[in-house]
Order: sequence, then structure tokens, then C-alpha cells
Amino acid sequence: MYNTHKPLKIAISGAGLLGRLLAWQLLERKHQVSLFEAGSIKRSPSAAHTAAAMISPLSEVVVSDKSIYDHGMRSLAIWPEWTKQLEDETAIQLGYSDNGSLVVAHPQDKNELSQFRQELDFHLGELNRTSWLSKEALKQYEPDLAGPFDGALFLPDEAYLDNRALLEALIKRIDALDGECREYCALNFEQDQINPTTAKRVYVPSDLNSFDLFIDCRGVGAKYSANSVRGVRGEVLWVKTEEVNFKHPIRLMHPRYKIYVVPKPDNCYIIGATEIESEDRSPVSVQSMMELCSALYTLNPAFAEARIQEIDANLRPATLDNLPLVSHSTVADGRPLVSINGLYRHGFLLAPSVIQEVNELIFK
Ligand SMILES: Cc1cc2nc3c(=O)[nH]c(=O)nc-3n(C[C@H](O)[C@H](O)[C@H](O)COP(=O)(O)OP(=O)(O)OC[C@H]3O[C@@H](n4cnc5c(N)ncnc54)[C@H](O)[C@@H]3O)c2cc1C
Repeated sequence: MYNTHKPLKIAISGAGLLGRLLAWQLLERKHQVSLFEAGSIKRSPSAAHTAAAMISPLSEVVVSDKSIYDHGMRSLAIWPEWTKQLEDETAIQLGYSDNGSLVVAHPQDKNELSQFRQELDFHLGELNRTSWLSKEALKQYEPDLAGPFDGALFLPDEAYLDNRALLEALIKRIDALDGECREYCALNFEQDQINPTTAKRVYVPSDLNSFDLFIDCRGVGAKYSANSVRGVRGEVLWVKTEEVNFKHPIRLMHPRYKIYVVPKPDNCYIIGATEIESEDRSPVSVQSMMELCSALYTLNPAFAEARIQEIDANLRPATLDNLPLVSHSTVADGRPLVSINGLYRHGFLLAPSVIQEVNELIFK
């Protein structure tokens, strides 16, 4: 699109995961960036704020297209450099850990785990580097999990980070690089209509004509111009306990209540379950919480005394085929618009790789 090194004036709509990462990357390349966010910057309404932030190409390959795995492996190679750079520049710790993850099942559900292993073999063949940890090995790896389980499947190429610290560090760095953040400014690309997701009329900044390029990172907020975008509900629970000390993300296989548990700073854990095909943004139901809590308790009974910190629900932006979508069009007067959406349940897994692709698209 551009084969010039001249700095561009770029407007990004949406200060969630993609919007912030892109703004940062473009500012580092000396472009001028304005970031428009429909909600608050600090208390971000984005899916990225709610997410567990696992970077898990292996776990996801059994339920996704192989391209998600390929993107994920590329992202895994980029995250260590990005997180280190941001930590050095902002002095905010991002809790990036790439020591792998564990998958367990109770003896009565062991078929779920065998099936998962077979599917990994089917999808990855020789690339499948997972290994079985005996009870003894599990005691070394994750002592607080060895009580109820006879062993675990170890997935080496998996990571996680502290998403909320990442969102904060990105804004700090964007600010330091003289990027502009306009919060409570819904910038839409639809003509003369209200976008019900943001409940705001088309925002027309007075300096709209001065931008060379627009980038749409609105996630679910883009669904009224992009028919193919939908929201997929996810629910999470945050608990705090000093009695359990997990060092890896853990997935519990279960015929009905599959859950994941991811360590967070200050002895906290985020617990989530499978997704719900609904655009309902209402609070979490008692039944959902009971199921999450009962499954959590079976990982280690000490979770019974954990303190609930937060319960949250949000929508993952997805396309019809659940694959990321990068498209190139124009705004009304013909200036270029790049739209990136559909990161679905894979935002942290895909973002670095997708952003590299977008950079190549914009700066051919
Ligand atoms: C419960 C849950 C758990 C998840 N766990 C993981 C995980 O473990 N690993 C993983 O890789 N991914 C996970 N995800 C998915 C991940 O969070 C998303 O894929 C990712 O956040 C998508 O990034 P995005 O920037 O496209 O959208 P978002 O992060 O949702 O950001 C979109 C932003 O655009 C803003 N916006 C909307 N409309 C407008 C407008 N008109 N003008 C200006 N701003 C606007 C929104 O307010 C929002 O801040 C999870 C998601 C959920 C909900």
C-alpha cells in the first residue's frame, strides 16, 4: 500500500489488544498515531481485559484450523522480545512465562484425555512434542496438582502473560512515544447510523481529513459494518489464595465442565470454561459459577478457601469461519482503511503474527 518511509498520520479505532499493539508498533516506526476508544482506556471494556491470555497453539490446534497453530508458533517467537522490550521501557512486569502447560483428567474421565492426545497426534503428527508426566514427575513440575491426579500431559510450546499489565504498559509506552489516546470517542466507519455496540453516533473528529490511513480494530464493535463479525461469550472467575501455587496454566478435561486455570500476579488465578455461542453481555449466572467453582475445587481442595476477586463476562470477536480477517478498503472519501478482526479466542496467540502481516500489507 505504501512504499515510502515518510511518517504517516494514522487513526486507529479500538484500544483493545490489536489497537494498542499496533499503535505501539507504528509509533516505534516513527508514524504519528491517534487511538480512538469507545470506552475507558484505564478500565478497558475490551475482550483483552477479560481474557486469560494463554498463548496455547497446541491446545487450540485440536479445535481450530492448522493456520491458527502456525500463526501461534510465529507469535510465540515474537512475544519474548516484545514483552522484554516493553518491560525495559515501562518498568511494568508483564509476567510472560513460556514454560508450557498441563492437561489433566480425573480417572473416570481419562477417555477425554486419551482422545485429546490422539487428536494432537492427528493434527500435528511429528510436530507433536507433548509428553506424559508420571505422578512422580508431576510432583516435581506442579506439586500442588499431584494430590488428585496420577499424571498429566505436558504441552511444551505454550505460554501466558499478564494481560492487564500488558494493556497498561502499552498505553504508557504509547504516551511516551507521543501517541494520542482519545477515550470515550467511538470512531465508526459506517455512514450516518448509530452503532448499537458503542451506542454512539458516528464520531467525526474535526481533524478527520488530516489522517492518511485508518485502521479498524473495533473487535465486536465492528459487527454492524462487518456482517461476518459476531461476539462469542466467555465467562471468567478470579480467585486469590496463598494455599495453592500453580506455576503453569492447567486445563481440566471433563465431559461437561472443561475448565482452564491460569496463574496471575499476587497469588491470583483466572478460571474460565468453554465458550457460549451467544452475544449476551449480562452478568454470569449462578449455575455457571457453581460449575466453575466445583471443577476448580477438584484440582486442589485448598481452592475451597480461596477468595473470589472478580467475576466477568465478555464477547470474543469472531468471524463466520473463526479465522482472523485482515481486509483493505477505503473510507467515504477514498482514503485507505485496513480492518483487522476475528481474533476470536486466539487474540494473544495470534496478535504478534497478524500484526507482522498487517505491517507487510501496509508498507509493501
Ligand atoms: C473470557 C475470554 C477469555 C479469553 N482468553 C484468551 C486466551 O486465553 N488467549 C487468547 O489468545 N485469547 C483469549 N481471548 C480472546 C482475546 O481476548 C481476543 O481475541 C482479543 O482481545 C481480540 O482483540 P481485539 O483488539 O480485536 O478486540 P478487543 O480486545 O475486544 O478490543 C476492541 C476494542 O475496541 C473498542 N471499540 C469498539 N467499538 C469501537 C468504536 N466504534 N470506536 C472506538 N473503539 C471501539 C472496544 O471498546 C475495545 O476496547 C479471550 C477472550 C475472552 C472474552
